[in-house]
Parts: sequence; C-alpha cells; structure tokens
Amino acid sequence: MKVPQHIPKALRYSMRDFMNEFPNDAACLEYIKEQRFPGGITECIKCKVERKHHRVGNRTAYACDHCGNHIYPLAGTIFHKSATPLRLWFYAMYLMGSTRCGISAKQIQREIGVTYKTAWRMFKQIRSLLSDKDLKLMGPTVEIDETYMGGKRKRGTGRPMRGDKTKIPVVGIVERGGKVVAKVIPDVTRDSITGMVKKHVPAGSTVYSDEYQSYALIGRLYDDNGKILGYKHDTVKHGADEFVRGEVHTNSVEGFWALVKNGVRGVYHQVSPAYLQNYLNEYAFRYNHRFEGNKQFKRILERVSERTA
Ligand SMILES: [Zn+2]
Repeated sequence: MKVPQHIPKALRYSMRDFMNEFPNDAACLEYIKEQRFPGGITECIKCKVERKHHRVGNRTAYACDHCGNHIYPLAGTIFHKSATPLRLWFYAMYLMGSTRCGISAKQIQREIGVTYKTAWRMFKQIRSLLSDKDLKLMGPTVEIDETYMGGKRKRGTGRPMRGDKTKIPVVGIVERGGKVVAKVIPDVTRDSITGMVKKHVPAGSTVYSDEYQSYALIGRLYDDNGKILGYKHDTVKHGADEFVRGEVHTNSVEGFWALVKNGVRGVYHQVSPAYLQNYLNEYAFRYNHRFEGNKQFKRILERVSERTA
C-alpha cells in the first residue's frame, strides 16, 4: 500500500517505517506493554514491592522474577483473546489509518490474509476505537446541517419525502478549521437538533445553518440551569438559492457530508442502518485528524490503552 503523495513528509508514516518499528509480534506486545505500564512493569501486585518482570516464552505475558505472577498487557484491549497475531492487528490498524477514505473489511481480508469473519471482527474492533461520543467542540464558529443516509429515495435529492421511510437522518456540526461531530438522530425535530447543539457547541459560539425550521430557535437556547447560551445564529436561505452570504454558509459541513458519502459509495458501496453511526465515527475521526497525515495510525494505536474494557 502506497502512502498518498499529498501528505507532507513530516507526517508520513510509510510501510517501511511500520516494518522497522514493528518487525514482529514481540515488538507490538512491547509497545502495548509500554503504553499501559510506562517505564515497564515495575511493581509486582502479588509481592507488593518493586520487582523485575520478564517476558514469558512466546506467551503475551510478563512474569515477576521473584514469585512468577503473570501480567497480561493485552487484557481488556481489543486484542484480548484473539488468535490473530498481534502484528497483523497492527497492520490492519496501519491500513485503516493510512487511507484517505477508509478501507473495508473485505480489503483487510485480502491485504492481511485472514478469513472474512476474522477481518470483519478486526475491522469492527478497530473502528470501535475511533468514536468520540462526547466530543465538545471549541467554537467559536460552527456550521450545522442534517442529511439523510442509508436507504433509497423514491426520486430526487434532498430532504426525504413521504415514502422515503428507510432514510435515516444524521446531523453534523463542524467548527470551522477544526473538528466535526456527526450523529445518527431519531428525527430532525427541534428538540433532537437543539439537544445536540447544547451538548457539543460551547456557549456564545456563532452557529450557521440553513433556514430549516428546526434550527430556528438556536439563538434563544438556555442551558439546564436556565442561563441563556448566547449562540449567535444566522442562516443561509437555500430555499431562495442563496448558498453563501459573506461568512454565512454551511460549506464546511457540506464538505464533510461529501466525504462521507463518497466514502460509503466508493469503499462500502452501501451502509446498513445498524452500522451507520460507526461509519460516521470513522469518517469523523479521519476528518478530525486530517492534519496528521497517516500518523493517524499512531492516534488509533494510542487509543488501545485508553479504551480498555
Ligand atoms: Zn512477585
């Protein structure tokens, strides 16, 4: 797999870099151990004093030099109890963190030579590391927009019409020059949408949207303590063919939807409603780390220890 050429050199992490840093399973295990026990395993939980530990044969364990008590750095991680060699997991993560629009379980199956079932499981586990459910945006200027995914429209584009029941509404909020939050929501009522704004957008931010009525009260929202949130809200009148009025536009969030939809079309072909949020998480992660080149792989790796069960 080639590293895309548009990535600046400092942000490239090539296949060769990967092979040098992770030449075998032991190097991968050592990496996870170092993540979870920075500076090494220094204390034995059984002896309750400082003890040296050594790697146990070819098991994923380290043992106390004195009493032999085992420590398993992979316990609670996505690798726990997997029969797939650790380096193949790392390689799958490398692939997922190195492509611009994602990679499917099918491609993982082909690239690393495991069964589809295994590839799908790895894919799902790795993707679980990419979610940022409670991400609070920084503001000060955000754009909000909703779109519909996963099902077929009877005709045309845009908001669903009667008979388009299988379409699922998703809402995205992008801070200009920064991050995105994208969520599947049960409906596009004012309550659903304002709930999301209150959760993710800091008070006092400027919020741009189109003129859809569910956005209408954003400028007059209160927090749970009855304090006005002070959002400055302005809209573009898409209905009147107005798409940009100076600073007022939703181009960033629409750009994000284009990425997601292209990805789904090109990589996954279709998306089942049950997995839609996972797809959104993956694309949001990629968008939020877009300035890190394919060092995104390292970000994914960092999350292994942060997200232990
Ligand atoms: Zn011990």
